[in-house]
Formats: sequence, C-alpha cells, structure tokens
Amino acid sequence: MMRKRMPSPFSFPALKKDDKVIVTAGKDKGKVGKIIKVDRLYHHVYVENINMIKKAIKPNQTSREGGFITKENFLNASNVMLECPHCHKPTRIAHKFFENGTKSRICKKCNEVIDQKK
Ligand SMILES: [Zn+2]
Repeated sequence: MMRKRMPSPFSFPALKKDDKVIVTAGKDKGKVGKIIKVDRLYHHVYVENINMIKKAIKPNQTSREGGFITKENFLNASNVMLECPHCHKPTRIAHKFFENGTKSRICKKCNEVIDQKK
C-alpha cells in the first residue's frame, strides 16, 4: 500500500460521477458500481450499492417515521479503479492533451479515450 500525502484535491484520481468502477479493497472488493458522488478534498467516492451502511433516522418533519435507511458510505478513492468502457478492464487513467486545449482521460491499458465527446 502506498501512503497518501496530505489530502489535496489536486492529487485526486481522475474519477467522475457516473464512472463505472471496480472496488479493489474492503468488504465489497471485486464489486462493480457507478460513482454517485465524489469528494475531491478527502479522496472519497460514493459508489451505488457499494459499502452500504445502515443509518438510524429520527422522526421529523420530512420523514414520517423514524427507522433505518441504508445508504452508501464513502470508499477511499485509492480503493477503486475505473473500469474502462472499451476494454472492460480495471485501469489507471492517463490524460491526453489536445492541440485545441481540451484534455481527455484515456485508458492506460488500451489507450482509448474514456470520456465521450460533448
Ligand atoms: Zn481500456
């Protein structure tokens, strides 16, 4: 395991909401899910149906009754890997810079552009 330095939004892996990722550590290791939220400062990602926790909720104005809800808990961004939409392998992300100033994420395994053109 590599030690992380100070939390910084700049060293955050290039993961985005709606990316399909594979969990590489923890109780949900090997599972695949879609990123629903990222926290760049703390390097947290929330993946749909992964690392679910039960949360007690108290009755209040918005929820008619108290009880439990299950919701996603964060995963460390270093414990997930992007699944490449082209070669379908867990991959690291490289960046490719184009002459017009745009950049795209590319798969280090197959060198295909991961982001769709907008
Ligand atoms: Zn690939």
